[in-house]
Amino acid sequence: MTIGKKSSAKPDAASWHALSTDAVFQVLNSGATGLAAQEARRRLKQHGYNRLTPAASTGPLKRFLLQFHNVLIYVLLASAGITAAIEHWVDSAVILGVVLINALIGFIQEGKAEHALNAIRNMLTYEAMVLRDGRHLKIPAEELVPGDIVSLESGDKVPADLRLLQVKNLRADESMLTGESVAVEKNATPSEDHAALGDRFSMAYSSALITYGTAHGIVVATGDDTEIGRISSLLRTVPQLTTPLLKQIAGFSRWLTAAILVLALAAFGYGWFIGHSSLQDLFMSAVGIAVAAIPEGLPAIVTITLAIGVQRMAARNAIIRRLPAVETLGSVTVICSDKTGTLTCNEMTVESVCVNSDEFTVEGAGYDPHGDFKLAGLSASINDYPELRELLRAAALCNNARIEQANGAWHLHGDPTEGALITLALKAGLDPDLLNQEMPRTDSIPFEAEHRYMATLHHDHLGHAFMFVKGAPERILAMCSQERHHGEDEPIRGAHWHRVMDEIAGRGQRLLAIAFKTEPLTRSQIEFADVENGLTLLGVVGMIDPPRPEAIDSVRKCQKAGIRVKMITGDHAATASAIAAQLHIGNGSVLSGAAIDLLSDDELKVAIRDVDVFARTSPENKLRLVSALQADDQVVAMTGDGVNDAPALKRADVGVAMGKNGTEVAKEASEMVLADDNFASIVHAVEEGRSIYENLKKSIIFILPTSGGEALTIAAAIMTGKVLPITPVQILWVNMITAVTLSLTLAFEPTERRIMRRKPRDPHEPLLSGFLGWRILFVSLILVTGTFGLFLHQHGLGASVAEARTIAVNTLVLFEMFYVFNSRYLYQSVLSPRGLFGNGTIWFAVFVLTGFQLAYTYWPPMQALFGSVDLDLPTWGLMIAVASSVFFLVEIEKFFIRLFTDHKSNG
Ligand code: ATP
Repeated sequence: MTIGKKSSAKPDAASWHALSTDAVFQVLNSGATGLAAQEARRRLKQHGYNRLTPAASTGPLKRFLLQFHNVLIYVLLASAGITAAIEHWVDSAVILGVVLINALIGFIQEGKAEHALNAIRNMLTYEAMVLRDGRHLKIPAEELVPGDIVSLESGDKVPADLRLLQVKNLRADESMLTGESVAVEKNATPSEDHAALGDRFSMAYSSALITYGTAHGIVVATGDDTEIGRISSLLRTVPQLTTPLLKQIAGFSRWLTAAILVLALAAFGYGWFIGHSSLQDLFMSAVGIAVAAIPEGLPAIVTITLAIGVQRMAARNAIIRRLPAVETLGSVTVICSDKTGTLTCNEMTVESVCVNSDEFTVEGAGYDPHGDFKLAGLSASINDYPELRELLRAAALCNNARIEQANGAWHLHGDPTEGALITLALKAGLDPDLLNQEMPRTDSIPFEAEHRYMATLHHDHLGHAFMFVKGAPERILAMCSQERHHGEDEPIRGAHWHRVMDEIAGRGQRLLAIAFKTEPLTRSQIEFADVENGLTLLGVVGMIDPPRPEAIDSVRKCQKAGIRVKMITGDHAATASAIAAQLHIGNGSVLSGAAIDLLSDDELKVAIRDVDVFARTSPENKLRLVSALQADDQVVAMTGDGVNDAPALKRADVGVAMGKNGTEVAKEASEMVLADDNFASIVHAVEEGRSIYENLKKSIIFILPTSGGEALTIAAAIMTGKVLPITPVQILWVNMITAVTLSLTLAFEPTERRIMRRKPRDPHEPLLSGFLGWRILFVSLILVTGTFGLFLHQHGLGASVAEARTIAVNTLVLFEMFYVFNSRYLYQSVLSPRGLFGNGTIWFAVFVLTGFQLAYTYWPPMQALFGSVDLDLPTWGLMIAVASSVFFLVEIEKFFIRLFTDHKSNG
């Protein structure tokens, strides 16, 4: 068998599962210490990066053509057809031109948005633990090559196709490959030669999720050669650019098309039977209504706003995995957050150590291993306290963390809780590496939030075997039957230790108990049953993990924004309560996981209305809490990191996974990933989510009255039997030129300062709520009155039709220039320096648009195309005066809305 070829149709690829591990090593030319770094580099060149070739997204031509696949565009194309049929060549050329420009803008913007989302998705690369040159290293999973030895643990996503070498209780969810959702138990013995994919128990396939246990495996295939690579055309999905809001808008477009057709037909019928207009005029009016009522720029604006929003969120460390979450975030009413790392710094420092009846305090901060042990204020040497030495030795051995000094600073590799214990041992002068050589580890049970302890088995060279266990004190205490007391094992003093624990936890310290057990020399493996009784307690340590300063501010911000923050932690109730008090979460009451277990779903729903702190919770408790909150009509964002959190993350309206310390399983289950694991980033994302929705509303409230005003103007002209005040080509000019200038500026609207002072949006509230409908109608009426009124007035005074139309077009554009300022805030007044000058892009757009309008009015080629004529200065004055009315009228309307509704504090 050779591994040189990079082909998915490798004839022998199917038999790795049936080979013995020795044979696999031989074929892949690898050994127990893994590959050498140089060999790995060579293989990387030969096999390429371990990633799937991205799906060829829809070809550019098809994507361009798809831009025309929209009912509104069909209406425009039909309009072009009609104008061509009646030989209005300029009109049909302009309509076609607009359709084309629109398609081009859509094409470019969609490409950009897709690109931006892809880039954000690529921020979520994952790492693999690999053995190279005998050392365990974390490397990007992309750099794995065949022959690499990889470790897996619960929560990991399998990074490549692996033949398993050593397995401990490994279960893998391979549903993406086999469709079977029940996790499969794995082992290292060769599977049957003809076994189907789902029955190859000796393999872990790329992209499978490890739901339990640990294993080592050797990489047999990477990238497109993996099993998932073969079928991945199904999985290589391009991110969907759709959200509930976009669907609503698509629905709105269909509804609008129907309305336009009815209106055009009615106008046609009215003009034919009552107005007795010529067929040509009638066709032009119908076309005019169609092009007027269609908000050509809207779809592009919505896509741009969403893409900008998602990029802004990514810049603030919140990576959106599923686009609809952008909208849901804006209506979140409860954020359920983990404590450790999210609300706290996750930089643990041991401050207290209790052995016997002595409580030592430990000096120093962070992972710098310098600091004295003190007893009753006096320096203490561990040589005088053998129990303390025993505890520190156990803490260093039952541990997977490492502390290293680089560039003068001390760095942690591994779990902070364990890092704090290593630092503690180093402070006492113990050397963890030396201890591990003296007492090598033979087996271990890794820490899981589910059982809340970790155990390791060690053998020394003098013929002794020990098991060391550390974990949540209540858990450990229940497994201990004696304690170490002046060199002897004595019956455990339960009441004493509970008092000690409450006292330390009351100071906000996180607790950990450490115990041991002597084992028969012959034991080489540990099972849960071995750990759960007969232990000897060595002592309890308390470590501080201060709240993140920015989390305190963010919690306050949430409370002002009508969002309740709930802290759900695996920690002790007293610790949780003390930290919650520092963060100003809750009113002091704490509900424990055990208490939650006793409540029915209905009781839980009621009980949690007044409680914001949940301690010693299990992942199942989290799931029940989300469900109970949702049953109480809350929109829930829930954080999680472990594999067992996945159900709760999936269930929550917005599942939030930790990017740094979270497992791949948690990330897959989430809508959003926090790049910095920080609570403040969730709050920023909520803020952005609200802001995006507001900006979309603003764009819509700006664009629709323009279309409405234009359509009404034409309808009014038909009803009154007057000539059209604006021809279809002129309408298209106005629509396109304002879409690419004014409308776009609202997508860049900065987040309103008051946005986090409002209550969350009702998720059931339709986009075009009563208020928006009213505002659109109100402004449409102002626009039609001003435009049509000025047209009639000037025409009445003797202006030619061409001149009156030039006035109408300019008035309409001026109306929009004024109205775009109103649209910056939906309810609040913009009569303030910030309101008028807060968004510089608007002024720029107004400046550019003025240039366009001057060209439209005075430049001969434009005059030829659009039938415009020169205007004099007084006419400009008149137009500006009329157009400015919208600005004042809308501000007055806002004043009354604020007066009579509860939008006083709203934007
Ligand atoms: P949160 O759920 O808010 O992140 P947490 O980190 O305290 O809080 P868990 O990680 O479930 O929650 O830890 C629960 C308890 O398990 C801790 O209070 C501690 O006593 C114990 N514990 C934590 N990490 C370890 C570890 N690596 N080894 C042994 N015990 C641990």
